[in-house]
Amino acid sequence: MRVIVTGGAGFIGSALCRRLIAQGFDVLCLDKLTYAGNRQSLEEVATSERFEFVLGDIGDRALTQALFARFAPDAVMHLAAESHVDRSITGAAAFIETNIVGTFALLEEARAYWTGLEGQSKTQFRFLHISTDEVFGSLGPTGAFEETTPYDPRSPYSASKAASDHLVRAWGHTYGLPVLITNCSNNYGPYHFPEKLIPLIILNAMEGRPLPVYGDGSNVRDWLFVDDHAAALQRVVEAGKPGETYCVGGRSERTNLQVVHAICDALDSRIPLEGGDARRALIKFVTDRPGHDQRYAIDCSRIERDLGWRQSVSFEQGLAQTVDWYLARQDWWGPIRAQKYDGERLGLSQPTKR
Ligand code: NAD
Repeated sequence: MRVIVTGGAGFIGSALCRRLIAQGFDVLCLDKLTYAGNRQSLEEVATSERFEFVLGDIGDRALTQALFARFAPDAVMHLAAESHVDRSITGAAAFIETNIVGTFALLEEARAYWTGLEGQSKTQFRFLHISTDEVFGSLGPTGAFEETTPYDPRSPYSASKAASDHLVRAWGHTYGLPVLITNCSNNYGPYHFPEKLIPLIILNAMEGRPLPVYGDGSNVRDWLFVDDHAAALQRVVEAGKPGETYCVGGRSERTNLQVVHAICDALDSRIPLEGGDARRALIKFVTDRPGHDQRYAIDCSRIERDLGWRQSVSFEQGLAQTVDWYLARQDWWGPIRAQKYDGERLGLSQPTKR
């Protein structure tokens, strides 16, 4: 299968590229290399003859038109996005531009390409849009999101992703484009940009710096190891039913405070702090994120039942692997901390300078 992966230099996209190349796919990765994109995350596949990297914007229709014509993909797996809720609170413009307008542009070029296909190439073409469980809003203490849960996005990020999901579905219904959507819960694992909770806490805890926890740390997320998400995406693009949505999750709900405690304990056992102090003492409760969703949980029965996907890595195993990876890969995160993002607070809703 020949696949265009957008956003392939990001956290999940790079895991997907690694998996698809290992599974024998031909991959063209289209990525703009925003602050979140990193060619180093693609080092494992960079020399493969079946992998090509193209620097560019999904909103550049002349570029994507040329790429569709030249590469002749069997599928598009669309991950390119602005992805951080806190940054969307500080400035939503890039989220609207990439997540909504960019997705529209990509859909249009995919449709033009697909319209010109014939026979099997046409019936087998797939456009898989990778989305988030955050489009469903916030849960109370019980229940779980499923494919039929009404949309109720609450942050600029989740609203922009919800808008893109609606566009994708509309292109399926109106034009017959064979679209698929996945809504996945929180991912974690190697190559995760250290603005997100797990890598931020790992790096701060390694360095003995304060560990910021929003509010009282009671917000609940469902965590999925990134390679299990990549495996789910492969299953959906190969065997998913066009027009269908698949919720993907890890059945691993944890409060943010439980996650931070687990990271502290994992690091204490590997590299004790001088004097043997427990890292849990570094936790600092900080002003909550504006509009912070309380709880997300995913019922992933459909993808388990219909496509036979199962997560293979428990949260405890995945977290241990992730901690070990960050301990070993200062060459990856060191330049990011030094040049791009050093852990400062993002996403307070005061008006910002233009
Ligand atoms: P990320 O921020 O790590 O990576 C995004 C990538 O997209 C970067 O490489 C960036 O350079 C690229 N990009 C941004 N704008 C672009 C543009 N206009 N044109 C081309 N490339 C562009 O994000 P991620 O965490 O890997 O998430 C990937 C996708 O999965 C996103 O669509 C996100 O909404 C979705 N998702 C993420 C999670 C999660 O927990 N991280 C969970 C569910 C769904």
